Amino acid sequence: MLLIDCPYCGRRPEIEFAYGGQAHLVRPARPADLDDQQWAEYLYIRSNPRGRHAERWRHIRGCGRFFNAVRDTTTDQFLGTYRIGGTPPS
Ligand SMILES: [Zn+2]
Repeated sequence: MLLIDCPYCGRRPEIEFAYGGQAHLVRPARPADLDDQQWAEYLYIRSNPRGRHAERWRHIRGCGRFFNAVRDTTTDQFLGTYRIGGTPPS
């Protein structure tokens, strides 16, 4: 069973967590200034790298909090987790 380190609760089984998409997305400061193409790219276009990827996760069946994780998409191994606003592991 895959175990994930919640930065608030510690190591728990993966069934307690939900994937929340790509991490570190920044909402445009003035969305009304964007054209439709730029807005659509902000809403729907995500990176899909092979290897190291920063992701947002939620401990939905635990503390309920969101956090970030760096995961290797080729091995499904978590390289580290950190709180929102924290620094990704190197
Ligand atoms: Zn938790």
